[in-house]
This record gives sequence, structure tokens and C-alpha cells, in this order.
Amino acid sequence: MSEKKAEMSQAMKEKLAPKNFVKNPIKGTKFTVMVSSAKGGVGKSTFAVNLAFSLKQLGKNVGLLDADIYGPSLPKLIGRNEKPENKDGKYIVPIDSHGVQCMSMGFLVEETTPMIWRGPMVISAIKTLTERVLWNDLDIIVVDMPPGTGDTQLTFAQHIKVDGAIIISTPQDIALLDVKRGIQMFDKTKINIFGLVDNMSFFRADDGKNYNIFGEGGVEKTAKEFDKDFLGKIPLHQDLRESADKGMPLTLSDTKHEISLIIKEIAEKILKKLN
Ligand code: ADP
Repeated sequence: MSEKKAEMSQAMKEKLAPKNFVKNPIKGTKFTVMVSSAKGGVGKSTFAVNLAFSLKQLGKNVGLLDADIYGPSLPKLIGRNEKPENKDGKYIVPIDSHGVQCMSMGFLVEETTPMIWRGPMVISAIKTLTERVLWNDLDIIVVDMPPGTGDTQLTFAQHIKVDGAIIISTPQDIALLDVKRGIQMFDKTKINIFGLVDNMSFFRADDGKNYNIFGEGGVEKTAKEFDKDFLGKIPLHQDLRESADKGMPLTLSDTKHEISLIIKEIAEKILKKLN
């Protein structure tokens, strides 16, 4: 790297993770785990919700924070759409879904209201969701991040103590390119990457054969290339899509389903890393 480039890269690192920022855990929580994807539509929110219920079944007190301000999907994914209770005009009480404490911008605005906000408003919304929600004695909060590398990522990187991030992607080349950007963002912001998950990895047809619709092995290869752990492969499965549309996470409604068992294995790996 040229001297100029190295200087710029150092300046960028300091901008993203300046030494003088104080990072606090989200109040009421022990560990914060981010679920992130560099690209939209790869199944990040579906995975985050199912992971949260899986962790709950493993005996943990779990919270689920939908940090996607522009496109919140948690209300739909858990089939809940009520306004959360307000305490002392200052705090928001999370919505309990089968024992998982949930919060999303989607609970605070009408479902069809478009969020046309500038950066500072997004930062302020993230601060509300992380500082004003009465998370109650959580072991783990799973944060469903918006895709990309924008204001929300920067706000978390600068202000919140994150214990680890999971990056989820489909094995498609165009998605992997974004994953590489995502890995570098976490490395620059000094957020530990727990590992990569390959979603919509393959489709098992009625003939019993597996079809690699989005390509094969790309996520695992990317994990190796960047020396990150590979956490698992989730197949493309109609049951997962249907359960998401019904607002009833598969890891809650059918704990023995092959997808639930795969997500449980990933959840166990995360718990090991947190220990
Ligand atoms: P993102 O949060 O990355 O934008 P979503 O979780 O909203 O993605 O998923 C996008 C779509 O893909 C949704 O319709 C969801 O139900 C579906 N989906 C996600 N993962 C799978 C999977 N493994 N098999 C089948 N459908 C899936």
C-alpha cells in the first residue's frame, strides 16, 4: 500500500472507530449480537427472528431489536402490530412475543408510512431504540441491522458495545461482493465477526436432488478467504417463507423442522462464542 493510501486508510479507521467514543452495552442486556447482511433480500430478518426464538428455546432471556428504520419487518414476522406501552412519557416497553422481548420502528409508526429521513434522524431513532426501551434482564439481544454500511452501522460502531456480528448472505457472486465490503466494515469498526451464514444455500426438489440455485460454496469460500468462521447452510425452503408470511417463526412453531435444527446449531455456536 502506498504511503498516501495507508494514511487515508488510518484516517478512515479513526473516523469509524475513534478512540474517544465510549461504547456501552444496550441497557438491560448482557450481550449484543448483530445480524447483518451487506445486501437486502438475502433472508437477514427471517434469520434474525428465527435465531432469537432458537436462543430462547436454549434457555436464554432474549430480546429482538429491529434496527431497520427505513424498512422495519419485525411486526410482520412475528404477526404483531400494536403500539407499545409508554412509561413515564419517556420509555418504551418492548412487546412480548412468546417470551421474546421485541422492538421495532414498525411498532411506532403506521405500517404503510414511508420513513423519509435524513441521517441525523436515523441516528436519533437508533438512540431511542437502544436507550429508551425498557429491555428487561436480557442475556442476549439480537439486532436485525439494515443492509449496507450506513448511519445505523456507524451509530452502533461508535456508541454500542457489540459482542459479535453474524453476516448472512446467499451464495450468489453479486451478494458475496457486498459481503466482502461488510467484513471490512466490521474489521475497521472493530466489531468481532462471529461468522458467516449461507442462506438459500440449495433447494431440495421432489426428486431428492439438491439444486444450487444461487451458486455453490461461495459463502464458505469467502469465510475462509477472510479467516472467519462458517456457521452453517440454510436451504431454500417453502416452509420458512410461509412461516415468515404467517408471522409465526418456524423455530417457534416447529422446533423439529430441519431448518429449525440447523438454526439451533448456529444458535449453539453463538452461545459458545459468547461464553
Ligand atoms: P432481508 O432481511 O435480507 O431483506 P428477508 O428476511 O425479508 O430478507 O427475506 C426475503 C424473502 O426471502 C422473504 O420473503 C423471506 O420469507 C424469504 N426467505 C428468506 N430465507 C429463506 C429461505 N431459506 N427459504 C425460503 N425463503 C426464504
